[in-house]
Amino acid sequence: MKSIEKTNYYDNKARELSFETGLVIDGKIIKSSTGEMIESVNPSTNDVITSVQKGCVADMQQAIDIAKKRFQQGVWSRLEPRKRMNIMYKWADLIEQKKETFALLDTLEMGKPIDEMLTIDVPGTLINLRYVTECIDKLEGKTTNTRDNTLHCIISQPLGVVGCITPWNYPLMMASWKVAPALAAGNSVVLKPAAYTSLSSILMGKLFLEAGGPGGVFNVVPGSGSVLGKELASSSDVAKIAFTGSTEVGKLIFRYAGESNLKKVNAELGGKSPHIVFDDVEDLEKAVKICSHMIYENQGEVCSAGSRILVHEKIYDEFNEKFKKYTEETFIPGNPLDPSTKIGPLVAKEQQQSVLGYIEAGKEEGGRLYFGGNIPKGLEQGCYVEPTLFTDVDNSMKIAQEEIFGPVAVSVKFNTRDDAINIANDTPFGLAAGLWTSNLNTAHKVAKELESGMVWVNGYMNGDMTMPWGGWKESGQGRDKSFEAVVSNTQTKSVWINYK
Ligand code: NAP
Ligand code: MG
Repeated sequence: MKSIEKTNYYDNKARELSFETGLVIDGKIIKSSTGEMIESVNPSTNDVITSVQKGCVADMQQAIDIAKKRFQQGVWSRLEPRKRMNIMYKWADLIEQKKETFALLDTLEMGKPIDEMLTIDVPGTLINLRYVTECIDKLEGKTTNTRDNTLHCIISQPLGVVGCITPWNYPLMMASWKVAPALAAGNSVVLKPAAYTSLSSILMGKLFLEAGGPGGVFNVVPGSGSVLGKELASSSDVAKIAFTGSTEVGKLIFRYAGESNLKKVNAELGGKSPHIVFDDVEDLEKAVKICSHMIYENQGEVCSAGSRILVHEKIYDEFNEKFKKYTEETFIPGNPLDPSTKIGPLVAKEQQQSVLGYIEAGKEEGGRLYFGGNIPKGLEQGCYVEPTLFTDVDNSMKIAQEEIFGPVAVSVKFNTRDDAINIANDTPFGLAAGLWTSNLNTAHKVAKELESGMVWVNGYMNGDMTMPWGGWKESGQGRDKSFEAVVSNTQTKSVWINYK
């Protein structure tokens, strides 16, 4: 294990950080009206980093009211597209100037390795922001070929107030996936970040103002999901909820929408994604490496993690052995502020306990604990769990059916191609899937048959902004990224003009 005591450049930078901790409402950074605070905790040490203002229902109502007022006033919704674009480009530039600060904030609050922040989350956020900004003056309507003396135009208009509710696993990037397309389309936004990780969202809100964004157009209200998130999703002044989080809470969001104003819901939910390795895989070493990264990066706290590894029986033992060797050499738990660390702590004690509970369940159900399963020695002060693999797993076991959201992979043996497809689809989820084969027929057939919003062949989690992101089945509805994300923040209007 790497010593947590070791200090490095980012440990020193973290000590020098100052934090924005208020609510961003109506262009100002303010205190909560109750004066309550949320403690922000570093999960690698369980030390308190700072305290954040905890919004209450009245604060949330104020944010929704001002967002609605600004929308109606047209300070953003009617702003000339180029002017909106200039502000959003400036916003991206300001975030880029503070990339190290953003990397530190999310690493400190959720334990993600700083190297991932600098190579994945921050660049991903900037690409997303700039891509959706480019879309602003590319949004077009159309006219249809209809009867004479008529002009039928189909136009797109913004929705109004979009409520964004985000998870803690990619705090900055998920906020940008939700907030930026909504703003690009001309909406006002109220963001409720996850209670574990509010700091980067607050700073995003502050920089929007510094970039020239009008006050009240993008508001950030940190606090409890079951209070503030519920209030936002139940408000009849909110036209859409853009939600990323668990399937359990996603179902509640649809319920709140149904019980209030039938608002639009975009929901990116959980997963238990199959990652299938056929015996004709061209490069087994590469498949092993990618399978390992795709479950242990970000501590396995990834919606699209390839958490169910399906391996052909002919290469099952060889795969598991190589997987163990690669993982044990690569994913050594350590200080997430050390740039060489590939796996940090889980987000919080509750998450650590939940993951350890699944490991116990796996043992009780008869899975073979192939490696890992414990709190790493020397790192007991944080919320760490060793990278873990269960082999000889039956797909009906709890550890193969439920989203563990931690560094725990299961390895399931299959025989035929149909067998692989059936096991892969035997889940309530349908977010992502991957398969490794050198057979063109297998590649096309399996990709077609998988019940999943995203499928990778001979790779996993690749993609860019042109790739719509989202799931089938209980993994959600709607898509993030791509032009579709911007369009989904608009509504269609048909204008039928009769003339003589
Ligand atoms: P979560 O527990 O569902 O929470 C997500 C957000 O919803 C948080 O801001 C939470 O607030 C809020 N919330 C909780 N209860 C609520 C309620 N009753 N009404 C409205 N909002 C409520 O998810 P998480 O634990 O933060 O994140 C992990 C989950 O996100 C996993 O299931 C993962 O697969 C999923 N995820 C999916 C994607 C995707 O693209 N499909 C991407 C990333 C993550 P609190 O912070 O107060 O709990
Ligand atoms: Mg949760």
